[in-house]
Amino acid sequence: MKKRLFIDGEWIEARHCNELRSPYTGEVIAEIPAATVEETLLAIESAHRARRLMAELPSHRRAKILENLARLLEERGEEAARIIATEAAKPIALARVEVNRTIQTYKFAAEEAKRIHGETLPLDAAPGGEGRLAYTVREPIGVIGAITPFNFPMNLVAHKVGPALASGNTVVLKPASQTPLSAYLLAELLAEAGLPAGALNLVTGSGKVVGDVIAGDERVSMITFTGSPAVGIGIRNRAGLKRVTLELGSNSAVIIDKDVDVEKVIARCVNGAFAFQGQVCISLQRVYAHEQVYDLFVEKFLAATGSLQLGSPLDEGTDISALISPADLERSLAWIEEARRAGAEVAAGGEAVGNVLKPTVILNAAPGLKVSCQEVFAPIVLINKVASVAEAIALVNDSRFGLQAGIYTENVRTALDAAEQLHVGGVMINDIPTFRVDHMPYGGVKESGMGREGLKYAIEEMTELKLVVWNRN
Ligand code: NAP
Repeated sequence: MKKRLFIDGEWIEARHCNELRSPYTGEVIAEIPAATVEETLLAIESAHRARRLMAELPSHRRAKILENLARLLEERGEEAARIIATEAAKPIALARVEVNRTIQTYKFAAEEAKRIHGETLPLDAAPGGEGRLAYTVREPIGVIGAITPFNFPMNLVAHKVGPALASGNTVVLKPASQTPLSAYLLAELLAEAGLPAGALNLVTGSGKVVGDVIAGDERVSMITFTGSPAVGIGIRNRAGLKRVTLELGSNSAVIIDKDVDVEKVIARCVNGAFAFQGQVCISLQRVYAHEQVYDLFVEKFLAATGSLQLGSPLDEGTDISALISPADLERSLAWIEEARRAGAEVAAGGEAVGNVLKPTVILNAAPGLKVSCQEVFAPIVLINKVASVAEAIALVNDSRFGLQAGIYTENVRTALDAAEQLHVGGVMINDIPTFRVDHMPYGGVKESGMGREGLKYAIEEMTELKLVVWNRN
């Protein structure tokens, strides 16, 4: 299956293609264009030409295109889920969840398209402001460069393309090299949904070539990036005065207070740690359990972990499949080995079966170990004992990252204190940090990024505020 670039509403044969392989079987599943600098420039040129047309499209038309897209994706939902499962090795049940969330994200985008507005301002609050009428409007920013990661190849693309089109912008989309097929389906469906030519341009290929050109081009007004901190920081340095939104990594944590009914929270914590092999930006990586419940928590957590099924992403019963690449498997095993050598206890997993890393539970890991202080992005979770919630909060905050954190507690005061003291973008009371629905504001502090997604909030980032003042004097 040979794919073509999608530029200016046309499918264009690329000069070079690369083989795309399944992370689970290693088989070739498609041939994917590796766009050159010239082909990327064509895509930017096309988006730049189409920006006026998109900005002038009435909001009901933009909403209708996004509604059509949601309907078309619903019709082809099972095919979409199989694409995600095949290219990302995401277990099929989770791939279906991602497709359903993607449909919702586009529906939210369609709704938001109809309520983008400014406000009126009382200028006479300042001496000299009398006799003037002032209001603000929100205008599209122009061409948006969207660079996306492999782990939610459909829904994280939707979090950029949805709000960008809803607010009248045009897009140059560069998906992750391992997961371009979801983006190709999107381009096909958007063309069918009635999107004007040039409003979405899809260029696949290496981040270093395509991503670099998009980040540096003056015609691109904004970069919206989701991916690793190292690449994100590089993009920001290259982007100059462009607006930049960065959704980066984390080593998310949950706190288990002494009064918690451990049985009740185990299934959710195991899911947060191991869903999609831990390759989720808000995956549960660190658990800080109060000493009064620690032993019980560890015992129940290990029992639940033991029942997870390893296997092919296309098998209905699979919970855990292959990591995205052999290099990530090697890295994960090396980090586990480092923890073991430093005296931490590997209580479950710690080894691979083919490309699949067994779900791994590590006890008593010191804060300086890579499995603690870096983003593992693998099915690895640490469970450490704490003497108090205050100690746990200090440990959660002792991180370069700050995306989301969770705390389970029955004590209202403890919950309120935690909400105030945890230095993250979102605090989940009585839930894991992995909770997300698609319209909530979502994003991090510190090295977890800058700016917020969630349709309404992304639209704020993707529009310019303009002030209009009428002088009646
Ligand atoms: P990645 O390696 O940083 O890649 C992300 C995207 O950047 C890919 O499309 C990649 O292209 C591209 N890229 C690579 N080098 C580039 C360069 N020099 N200039 C411009 N673009 C470049 O991340 P990943 O491994 O796909 O995804 C995992 C990371 O994403 C984790 O750190 C995770 O926490 C983070 N993430 C964050 C969120 C959030 O909302 N905060 C959500 C999901 C994931 P190639 O694929 O061609 O290299």
